[in-house]
Amino acid sequence: VPGPHDADVLTAGAGPVGLLLAGDLCAAGLRVTVLEQRTAPITESRASTLHTRTMALLAERGVLGRLGKLPGGGPGHFGGLRLDLAAAAPGDPFAGQWKCPQARLEAALHERAVELGARVLRGRRLTGLTDLGDHVAVEATGGRTWTAGHLVGCDGERSTVRELAGFDFAGVPATKEMLRADVAGIDVPNRRFERHPNGLATAARWPDGSTRVMVHVFGAGPGRRNGDPDFEEIVSAWRKVTGEDIGHGTPLWLDAFDNTSRQVTRYRRGRVLLAGDAAHVQMPVGGQALNLGLQDAAALGALLPDHADDYHAARHPVGARTLTNIRAQTLLLLGGPEVEPLRETVAGLLALDTVRGHLARAISAPSADGQE
Ligand SMILES: Cc1cc2nc3c(=O)[nH]c(=O)nc-3n(C[C@H](O)[C@H](O)[C@H](O)COP(=O)(O)OP(=O)(O)OC[C@H]3O[C@@H](n4cnc5c(N)ncnc54)[C@H](O)[C@@H]3O)c2cc1C
Repeated sequence: VPGPHDADVLTAGAGPVGLLLAGDLCAAGLRVTVLEQRTAPITESRASTLHTRTMALLAERGVLGRLGKLPGGGPGHFGGLRLDLAAAAPGDPFAGQWKCPQARLEAALHERAVELGARVLRGRRLTGLTDLGDHVAVEATGGRTWTAGHLVGCDGERSTVRELAGFDFAGVPATKEMLRADVAGIDVPNRRFERHPNGLATAARWPDGSTRVMVHVFGAGPGRRNGDPDFEEIVSAWRKVTGEDIGHGTPLWLDAFDNTSRQVTRYRRGRVLLAGDAAHVQMPVGGQALNLGLQDAAALGALLPDHADDYHAARHPVGARTLTNIRAQTLLLLGGPEVEPLRETVAGLLALDTVRGHLARAISAPSADGQE
């Protein structure tokens, strides 16, 4: 029976978080409309790591079946120090970490959401919202107003919903940055979080012969940029850290990411809620950004529409703990020679089963109380 509104729930953003949420809400019998500003799905490289809890969530929803067999992602790390994530869940079929390009995951989540009845409308950018107490009204490009019982902002790190609804986004600005590029036509040795006197370097050859390089110059702050970094900047940082020249290569993809760490102080304001990067922004160390967001969506999907009050208490503490572990990892990873004593100490602790299990669970299956 159609309700009085266009939808029971409107979500802004058809990224992985918005799509998982839309599918779950439809599976629970709600009418869901997703407004997405992009006219086409993303194709570029983004997150690629799925952790144990996320794998279980995707399996329960039949999404893993749509993805086919995924390759394992190796042992994992904590701030660049080897940490076998399988220690989180010995015997669990999803113990460890798994690799899946974000674009492929989004396609599978989109397919599921639409099959379950979600309306995913592309080319609609949310530009205004009003919380009317018993429902929300939303303006979007395309010139019409939408009404719904709840609005969920799944619109990513620069969330319009967060801004318009007046959420308090507390945290710390960036102090450090990593540069990344996929480069064709270079031949540098594979290495993982290799520490040099001037910085940190990672290189991994893709099956197509191009190489993903990632570099940080110790002490360098985030660049002032409006878009992607120049290849020249990455070539120069790479030379400074490794002594190698990759300037003759052809850049296929350029990226910079920093250690901004922010989280909204409330996950809900009235009839407006936030999930995923809209609710928390963090350095994507160890693939936790995407996993945390998908777990927000799964939790919220089980609570709307009647238990929206419980969402903040369920997810804010998990986000806060995850952001803390990411900041700790960033210190270990991007700190210069001054963090060597701390790295040695943590490496010693990581020899203990209990420490390995605790930190592996914090990454693979984080919980609110830290008793993962
Ligand atoms: C270049 C890049 C590289 C990354 N690399 C990694 C990585 O290596 N590891 C990792 O864990 N994470 C990585 N991330 C982060 C990861 O992609 C995010 O954590 C994840 O996509 C969050 O999902 P989300 O659905 O919350 O937000 P998003 O994926 O950002 O989706 C938000 C969606 O909302 C839409 N939107 C925004 N504003 C509006 C609006 N006003 N109206 C309608 N629609 C709107 C956007 O178009 C987008 O489709 C990377 C991100 C980027 C951009």
